[in-house]
Amino acid sequence: MDYDVVIAGAGPAGCAAAYDLCVNKRRVLLLDRYEFPREKACAGGLTPKTLKALRYSVEPVIKRVCDRMLIGKDMRQKVLLKSRYSICAMTIRSQFDAFCLEKTLKRAAFFHVVKTIERIDETDTHVDVHTDKGTIRAKYLIGADGVNSKVRKLTDAFNKIKKGFAIEGILPMDGTKSAEMEFNFDGAISGYCWVFPKNDHMNVGLYSSLGSEKLSKQKLFRFVKRRFGGDTVDRINGYPIGIGGWDYVPRKHRTVLVGDAAGLADPLLGEGVFYAVKSGQMAAAAVDRVLPEEAGVGPVYNDLISGIKRDLLVCYQTSQWFYQYPGAGYAAMTFFPSKCALVKGFAMGWTLGRIIKQSYRLPFKKI
Ligand SMILES: Cc1cc2nc3c(=O)[nH]c(=O)nc-3n(C[C@H](O)[C@H](O)[C@H](O)COP(=O)(O)OP(=O)(O)OC[C@H]3O[C@@H](n4cnc5c(N)ncnc54)[C@H](O)[C@@H]3O)c2cc1C
Repeated sequence: MDYDVVIAGAGPAGCAAAYDLCVNKRRVLLLDRYEFPREKACAGGLTPKTLKALRYSVEPVIKRVCDRMLIGKDMRQKVLLKSRYSICAMTIRSQFDAFCLEKTLKRAAFFHVVKTIERIDETDTHVDVHTDKGTIRAKYLIGADGVNSKVRKLTDAFNKIKKGFAIEGILPMDGTKSAEMEFNFDGAISGYCWVFPKNDHMNVGLYSSLGSEKLSKQKLFRFVKRRFGGDTVDRINGYPIGIGGWDYVPRKHRTVLVGDAAGLADPLLGEGVFYAVKSGQMAAAAVDRVLPEEAGVGPVYNDLISGIKRDLLVCYQTSQWFYQYPGAGYAAMTFFPSKCALVKGFAMGWTLGRIIKQSYRLPFKKI
């Protein structure tokens, strides 16, 4: 056998899984289509719960820490929410991913670049992954290859995937421009417009929970024009986000999906790095548990991710009414008790689903 585990995709989900498996002395191969650093469409915002979930500090790649956020609606109303603690750490995604991969390789994971995964054969004893560079044999396979996952397609592992969509661009930051983190809910796109300030530029973008049909470059230009008065946006890039994972049930004996490949991003805000890291770690824990007997990994992994799936379902149900009635959604978010709950929950590293369901359990004191 070449490896204990082969992991397709070296993004946050794949690296999180590989890191934990290597800590437990498993022989792990990470595959990716690119050498790192590589570009990935992403605003690079890491919530406190993501920083808490990661096994190492990512301080060297943090550009700015935000403890305030502006929440607006249709560019008119705006409320500034403040916290004593960090609400979001801003990174450049290509740097963050390269940093995580470097940390993982230091734990003795192997890394190969393959351009295509052509076929996957799962037997009772192993999985063969056929690539353009040859065949790799391992006891288990983790599909961490993102929203358009080849592993998902080739193994027919999950056909209920849904796709949100986000389009982003870069604006240089000068003294005249806002440096607040901002979410502006826009009734026209079933989602929101964001501003994420870094050190020398802002990442601006649009998210839609309904996929790409409501988003366009023109809408991004319009947002930037209305918000900042200018119309230059550099490096525009759009990409889907994997959602719908509350319906994912791993059925394969030796193959599981993690992160966006399994639709495990939050449909309300499109946050995916946290769920990618957590599901990667859970897949590693599941493989570790079954590896001595070489038992099926699916049911154990499904048990471990059941909390994530419940959480994402709450976010999905909330997104349904939130984006249908954006006025009411905005009012609910900025109404005194809920705006405090939002900031406290974020700062404490709670998931959005938990904030929505259990805000009554948040501490009374100011955070
Ligand atoms: C514009 C935009 C902004 C976003 N902003 C944020 C944000 O601020 N914060 C946040 O938490 N989330 C954000 N997200 C969501 C987040 O980017 C994803 O949820 C997250 O990247 C999922 O991580 P992953 O490891 O599952 O997949 P990915 O990050 O997509 O990683 C998959 C990896 O697999 C590799 N791969 C793909 N196909 C193959 C193949 N056939 N063989 C081998 N390797 C392959 C890819 O090269 C990649 O390295 C944003 C998304 C978009 C589109």
